[in-house]
Amino acid sequence: MKTKIAVAQGDGIGPEIMDAVLRIFKANDVQLEYEFVEMGKSYFDAGHSTGMTAAAKEAIEKYGILFKGPMETPKGKGVKSINVTARKVWNTYANQRDFRTLNGVDTVFSKAGIPINLTIIRENIEDTYGGIEHLLTYDVAVGRRIITRPGSEQVIRYAFEMVRRKGYKKLACGHKANIMKLTDGLFLEVFQQVAKEYPDIEASDIIVDDLCMKLVSKPQMFEAIVLTNLQGDIVSDLCAGLVGGLGFAPSANIGDNISIFEAVHGTAPDIAGRGIANPTALLLSGIGMLRFLGYSANAAAIENALLYTLEQGAHTGDFGDKTATPSLGTDAFADAIIANLGKLPADGG
Ligand code: NAD
Repeated sequence: MKTKIAVAQGDGIGPEIMDAVLRIFKANDVQLEYEFVEMGKSYFDAGHSTGMTAAAKEAIEKYGILFKGPMETPKGKGVKSINVTARKVWNTYANQRDFRTLNGVDTVFSKAGIPINLTIIRENIEDTYGGIEHLLTYDVAVGRRIITRPGSEQVIRYAFEMVRRKGYKKLACGHKANIMKLTDGLFLEVFQQVAKEYPDIEASDIIVDDLCMKLVSKPQMFEAIVLTNLQGDIVSDLCAGLVGGLGFAPSANIGDNISIFEAVHGTAPDIAGRGIANPTALLLSGIGMLRFLGYSANAAAIENALLYTLEQGAHTGDFGDKTATPSLGTDAFADAIIANLGKLPADGG
């Protein structure tokens, strides 16, 4: 029997990359059934304050899984982020972002023979993302930051469990507790308490600015890092840069009842509608979703085809050697992956 999930195509490049990923799933006979739900900027504009219709909310809550494309939020003014709202509405408290070196995606580190394989766990609900801001005067803006003990504990516990599941040995906590003694101080205190329950895992802490410096100079020092919301958001985009850019950064928003799988990147308005977006980040997110749902064979087959395709030098316009091979559009890149289903990358997958 097919598992039903909710799919929201998203805004900007969302429909283009979602279509490519679902075609790859279909070519590998993935036994999922999709309910396409009405969610995104246009639904907000039409008067749905959460950016989704009641039917969309009902479907997502019924199936417990949302596979989504990116959704637009204007900067500095206007609507509340639909993405942030969705994470809050369903308490998807842990945002897991896996970054790894991919053969065929050249970076400073891959060229130096330094492989990267690290996971960022970002607290997903609290912190400055509560949107509690106001103007004290026209020249003074004030924002509140909320960090709670239960909110910190649930994401830190998730991070330790994830480290065990992946067979990693280490977990670092990134923070700024030297300056924000109460908020980051609480997050760090909870980390140190929970760490006592995981003596098999080497737990350490690091101030976030030092962390950024070490990530760009010696990323191989780290296996997994847990951070508060805003710091985790910034550090994970930095990590995307380490492995080739936003086109290679997948993300899972994990909650106890509902989980959301999406790419880290946004709607890419500068290239939307041109059929040139890189679908890899959404595909990697989809592969993570297949594993989460227990479709391990599909996940492995599609991942091998992707790795093989990248190794062959196929690329969209945002990466790869453009002098050696011309850039492929989104559809042609997906077709190349489909043609390579059943093939194994050089490292055996
Ligand atoms: P962005 O990630 O959309 O784009 C940043 C740069 O990366 C652009 O040059 C873009 O062309 C490029 N890029 C991103 N994804 C790409 C892909 N798959 N292939 C090739 N190039 C890609 O960030 P932005 O411009 O700051 O944000 C645009 C919109 O997306 C905003 O409304 C923002 O709020 C929203 N956003 C949504 C999500 C989400 O839905 N989870 C995440 C981040 C941003």
